[in-house]
Amino acid sequence: AHEGILRRQALRESAARTYARSLPIVPVRARGLTIEGADGRRYLDCLSGAGTLALGHNHPVVLEAVRAVLDSGAPLHVLDLATPVKDAFTTELFATLPGELAEKGRIQFCGPAGTDAVEAAFTLVRTATGRNGLAAFSGAYHGMTADALAASGGARHPGVTRLPYPYAYRCPFGVGGEHGAELSARWTENLLDDPKGGVPRPAGMILEPVQGEGGVIPAPAGWLRRMRELTAARDIPLIVDEVQTGVGRTGTFWAVEQSGIVPDVLVLSKAIGGSLPLAVIVYREELDAWRPGAHAGTFRGNQLAMAAGTATLAYVRRNGLAARAATLGATMLGRLRDLAAAHDCIGDVRGRGLMLGVEIVDRDGAADALGARPADPALAAAVQQACLDRGLIVELGGRHSAVIRLLPPLTLTDEQADAVLDRLADAIAAAGR
Ligand code: PMP
Repeated sequence: AHEGILRRQALRESAARTYARSLPIVPVRARGLTIEGADGRRYLDCLSGAGTLALGHNHPVVLEAVRAVLDSGAPLHVLDLATPVKDAFTTELFATLPGELAEKGRIQFCGPAGTDAVEAAFTLVRTATGRNGLAAFSGAYHGMTADALAASGGARHPGVTRLPYPYAYRCPFGVGGEHGAELSARWTENLLDDPKGGVPRPAGMILEPVQGEGGVIPAPAGWLRRMRELTAARDIPLIVDEVQTGVGRTGTFWAVEQSGIVPDVLVLSKAIGGSLPLAVIVYREELDAWRPGAHAGTFRGNQLAMAAGTATLAYVRRNGLAARAATLGATMLGRLRDLAAAHDCIGDVRGRGLMLGVEIVDRDGAADALGARPADPALAAAVQQACLDRGLIVELGGRHSAVIRLLPPLTLTDEQADAVLDRLADAIAAAGR
């Protein structure tokens, strides 16, 4: 069955399919960290639906919440009508929100995907400001719909001013660290004020507090505060995309808490749906310039996703899983540093909480001024394959697809963390140098 399914799917699916190309497995059962394939093999899943599974696969509280809705006779499709399920979700979500958003924020259900919420955020700030352009960062990933894609790294779009994200290891200014971040902030300020530098006064600036698909690149807290100040001073709404960083992943419930900034618009998806599709934006009430009915969509009230999401948010909050992600993530990062010291093919290890990245480089390539060697995507793919051979699922990301990303569930135990890192170390020893 396993081979047949893979073969038929490969024939029928578009060449654009992504995960299925590098991860030829046929999941049939899953629980927590573990996925079981149709061939009976078991894998430790550190991709977690690209950061979606805060509680891992099929957590009992999530299953119970979904079953409760199914058994209650509640309608599964409700457009965006008010329901007890939605009420519970909104209440739980608001209890977690940063700053004024908790008391005075507005929520708009978008959905079902993160990219829908990004698009909604752009529509909202355009409506509120009457302006059209956007400011976004190199290496960003915001989704696959038109403007979300335009705001993502690699894309070129006349309506988007592309700004340099502070990437310490491959610093665009060749200085690294806090100094590199400071230059990024100055460059940004300069472009925002230069009438010919890009989009004059954009409708909004969008950023990820830790770039995920871009290669697990955490922005320094000071830089995030600078972005908050720069945008506030120019009346440019700041949109923070926490689609991947949210719900405890980076060591605080929302990643913005680590810098203390409160965005004008917060974009949320992935883990808020407890593994089912759900996406929302939460924003300052002053931005709510949408006329009644201005934002529509058939699938904005997924009852199962809202119930699964409520259970997930509550579980993460009540069990202090964000703090747990911070401590376990720090321990894992320490072990990754030891691994980097032992292998020249690891150029950099970094991350926040349980969002970790290992940048694979060509150790024979020429180092740049800061000592960074060229990315080695072929070797990274070989390490990913070696991980899979050892029953470990990891994803690649980064500008050159050479960053191994670890996004384990926040429920990861110490023993599981060791097992993950043992397999990764073994894979690097086998494939790398
Ligand atoms: N923003 C960020 C930061 C993301 O990581 C992603 C997905 N990886 C998206 C937006 C888009 O979400 P979706 O794939 O659900 O459309």
